[in-house]
Amino acid sequence: MKPRDLSDHVAYEAGRGIEEVARELGREPSELIKLASNENPHGPSPAATVAIREAASSVSSYPKAAHADLTAAVADRWDVSDKQVWLANGGDGAIDYLHRTALEPDDTILVPTPGFAYYGMSSRFHHGDVRKYSLEREADFEQTADIVLEAYDGDRIVWITSPHNPSGSTMALAEIERIAAETDAETLVVVDEAYGEFADGESALSLIEGRNGFESRDDVAVLRTFSKAYGLAGVRLGYAVVPDEWADAYARVNTPFAASELACRAGLAAIDDEEHVERTVETTLESRQYMRETIDAHVWESEGNFVLVDVGDATAVAEAMQERGVIIRDCSSFGLPGCIRITCGTDDETDRAVETLNAVLADLE
Ligand code: PMP
Repeated sequence: MKPRDLSDHVAYEAGRGIEEVARELGREPSELIKLASNENPHGPSPAATVAIREAASSVSSYPKAAHADLTAAVADRWDVSDKQVWLANGGDGAIDYLHRTALEPDDTILVPTPGFAYYGMSSRFHHGDVRKYSLEREADFEQTADIVLEAYDGDRIVWITSPHNPSGSTMALAEIERIAAETDAETLVVVDEAYGEFADGESALSLIEGRNGFESRDDVAVLRTFSKAYGLAGVRLGYAVVPDEWADAYARVNTPFAASELACRAGLAAIDDEEHVERTVETTLESRQYMRETIDAHVWESEGNFVLVDVGDATAVAEAMQERGVIIRDCSSFGLPGCIRITCGTDDETDRAVETLNAVLADLE
């Protein structure tokens, strides 16, 4: 028996790990640095590492208590009810839950291009089709309500990535509010804030809860992750915050025990260590600014933990940098040829990335 026809589905192209690239280059992993997947170069909070170690002895039990405790901690962090917090296996898992809850056959989702590939992949698992709005490179990937509303055609979910991957641009809350107000009542606007900790503005949670001068809305949800600022990409932990009207759906759509015991315990420790996140954000902003000032090519302004650089032949640049031990992302896979994305690293990593890129650009001239 064969699987059903999956020709419409594409495989997710995850960035390659240091070990794999080192093996290919015949070098030691310690000689390489990887600034390709927007991970936290400082790692997780030390408290999270201890929590994972301590949790090892309790993994024979299902993660019920830790799951409830983390849900409560996240709800407390945002001052929302526990039921509005949908824990998941990474932000990716939360994307699946939202699609599973919202989409019926032949519904469509509206996503940014260039953009994060998993929205489209996930919607296809749930028999939804993908439509796109363009963020224009010539306009510095500016995000406005007009751009989205012009492309909108009754789509069931509108995805806003703010800060946007891979450009780092953001959308103002007033613009998001306009999109929610001017789309159909059956349309959910989901604001993906995977990189929210690194941005200046407030969270779109204000739109759900009716804070900071906004009216409360029942058609906006927010996505967050522990993979970036919290340094826990490997444990796979993320969540959606949904409006009250959606709260009860979670129990009907989630995979039983949506986040593992280890992930929940790590998340609980991490959310408590505010200092670690503050330090991460501070060093990230320094690295981001340094790259903008010192790279010999156009670097877009970014509110994420990465910068997008216009390099011309991105594939050649990415390969040459990798040869020199610096792994970065060629943005062709985002539908954005000619650009590379570099994650903000430690001071040493950032220095090395800039030096290597500038040398490669000079060589290729
Ligand atoms: N949204 C965006 C915009 C992302 O870039 C990513 C990860 N690269 C995710 C969501 C999902 O991240 P995770 O599943 O690790 O939480």
